[in-house]
Amino acid sequence: MACAVIKNGEDGVIFVCGKHDIKPCKRCGFLADYLCDWPVDGGTCDAALCRSHAANIGEQYDLCPIHAKIYRRQSVGEIREPGNLKLVK
Ligand SMILES: [Zn+2]
Ligand SMILES: [Zn+2]
Repeated sequence: MACAVIKNGEDGVIFVCGKHDIKPCKRCGFLADYLCDWPVDGGTCDAALCRSHAANIGEQYDLCPIHAKIYRRQSVGEIREPGNLKLVK
């Protein structure tokens, strides 16, 4: 069981509890539905992201705004899986 304080609208906050880890979006604090899939040392970035801040790459990957920017710079119009990308520090 995990709980989190999630922004709800401009001023309000709500408590959300669930079986899985519940995280607020790293950028805006709203409920996060996605985790960044960018590969980092020992795993993935895992930044929590809401629908509007997750950048969908291909069919099954979502990236945080920072990594989406790096991804777009690396792949010149070509969609590659994040697992094939070089780790940029
Ligand atoms: Zn957000
Ligand atoms: Zn990320």
